Amino acid sequence: MKDFIQVLRRFIPPYKGHLGLTFLYNFLSAVFAVFSVGLMIPILEILFNLAEDVNEMVPWAFSLKSVSHNLYYYLTQFRNEYGPGLSLLVVGLFVSFGTMLKVGFAYLGAYETVFIRNSVVRDIRQQIYKKILRLALPFFTEERKGDIIARISGDVAEVENSIMASLDMFLKNPVLILVFLISMLIMSPSLTGFILIVLPVTGFVIGRVGKSLKKVSREGQDKMGQMMTIIEETLGGLRIIKAFNAERKMEGRFNSEAGLYRNIMNRLMWRRELAHPLSELLGTLVIVIVVWFGGTLILNRNSELTGSEFIAYLAIFYQIINPAKAFTNALYSIQKGMAAMDRIDLILKADVTIAENQGALPIETLTDAIEYRNVGFAYNDKLVLKNISVKIPKGKTMALVGQSGSGKTTLVDLLPRFYDVVEGQVLVDGVDIRELKLHDLRNLMGNVNQEAILFNDTIFNNIAFGVESATRETVEAAARVANSHEFIMETEMGYNTVIGDRGSKLSGGQRQRISIARAILKNPPILILDEATSALDTESERLVQDALEKLMKNRTSLVIAHRLSTIKNADFICVLHKGTIVETGTHDELLALNGRYTKLHQMQMF
Ligand code: ADP
Ligand code: MG
Repeated sequence: MKDFIQVLRRFIPPYKGHLGLTFLYNFLSAVFAVFSVGLMIPILEILFNLAEDVNEMVPWAFSLKSVSHNLYYYLTQFRNEYGPGLSLLVVGLFVSFGTMLKVGFAYLGAYETVFIRNSVVRDIRQQIYKKILRLALPFFTEERKGDIIARISGDVAEVENSIMASLDMFLKNPVLILVFLISMLIMSPSLTGFILIVLPVTGFVIGRVGKSLKKVSREGQDKMGQMMTIIEETLGGLRIIKAFNAERKMEGRFNSEAGLYRNIMNRLMWRRELAHPLSELLGTLVIVIVVWFGGTLILNRNSELTGSEFIAYLAIFYQIINPAKAFTNALYSIQKGMAAMDRIDLILKADVTIAENQGALPIETLTDAIEYRNVGFAYNDKLVLKNISVKIPKGKTMALVGQSGSGKTTLVDLLPRFYDVVEGQVLVDGVDIRELKLHDLRNLMGNVNQEAILFNDTIFNNIAFGVESATRETVEAAARVANSHEFIMETEMGYNTVIGDRGSKLSGGQRQRISIARAILKNPPILILDEATSALDTESERLVQDALEKLMKNRTSLVIAHRLSTIKNADFICVLHKGTIVETGTHDELLALNGRYTKLHQMQMF
């Protein structure tokens, strides 16, 4: 419950105004509900001919007594003139009018609640997405991506269905209950005092049932999670399952989990079904006790109430039972939602961001050199880079070669601070990059990777990604340099062609040239090429390689190459082996060394 209020505290404040309106409308709705029920009293009195004639008015005052006295006066006049039949109709009209106001205000209250509810859910989604964009890359290991998507879709929906659905109960029912209780107190303090003693006892019994539901429901959710894991593993590993004839085994595992889930859900639903008859029975018991207690008072002429008033009193009391029941239901539902909220908070409160120093320095462009100084790096505990020291003067091209897994990608990822070094420093113009403004630092760089990263958008927008001021002319010029203009013009809509999910409507070479055009347009002083041509066939490689060479001209470049033929022209080459630089030099120097580079070179010659 405390957690729930905290959740509301976090998300409700922007909607304070709407919240206030909700309370107001619900209050008015409750007042008119009491008014309509209260009119039962004159109806009963007319029917049973109990009403005493009121032939004199008292001065109007702001008190129940004076108002009801005068209303009875008018009623008496009316009845004497037109008879009891028509009087009933007139009172009935008042009842209808009161009911209209009651349901009207109830609707307005619900209207505001719906607005608050949907806005809060939108806010939660937006916050998660924003946080994802901020979080550092190490947060997103492969196994986590699915989980994150599950949280954005599943858990937010769960929060919406449980917590936000309960919002209605929370904004409405306490107001209703309060207004009804106060009306009852005014009508008969002694009887209401008695009820206030009986009611908590029933509340306690109902609450006990709710609590046991909560525990079982959590078990159910956990079990559902385990079943989902099996299904996920199965979908991913179908090939292996079939190859190893393991269908039976998997089926057995799944069936046992599904069976356990059934048992849990049986327990849950049996208990839930029990809750309804139980609360109905309890409700009836309470009414019986109240009728007995109040009736005895009336019969002994000990009560503030007349018989008709007592019946109206009971009618109001009966109206409390439903909101009270809904209220306990909401409490249970909230427990379910809080579990989902906790999972969402694992993202919202995660603290894995790359921090920018207070007073970080701006940087406009590269003027001198990039330097790695004694850099060491580890993913978790696994050491991936050791003792890396290398300096790349402005305008030079450094090539990185080495076996797959030797740490090349990791090394270049340190420069834009996708990760932070564990030991040593990376410096730009002699300044540790952790001292620089993150936005400025990344603005210095252009990336082209093995897999062109494109978005399901037009070609124009994919090239202009990250450049605010792009025009048709500049985009086209960049595309020409990247050998892309021609094939772009051949597509259906030219630059306005939407290229499909991750650019699936284009060939690999075309995708790569679009990502090169993007880098050309950004025109950064530093370039990072990570195996930009290795996924291509020889034909498109030539076009891409040509585009890359134009892109690298006059820039400082870090190039990772799979095929050594593509880096012969680099100013110097570093050979990376198991996370350390083992050889450095030009192509010819390294060949002369007859070491690891020569081995790599020979392997590729065949
Ligand atoms: P290369 O680009 O030379 O093939 P990488 O830099 O991608 O090598 O990887 C170097 C080592 O770091 C590999 O052993 C790889 O398994 C490990 N590695 C890469 N990325 C991660 C990651 N996100 N989490 C944990 N280990 C990783
Ligand atoms: Mg790599």
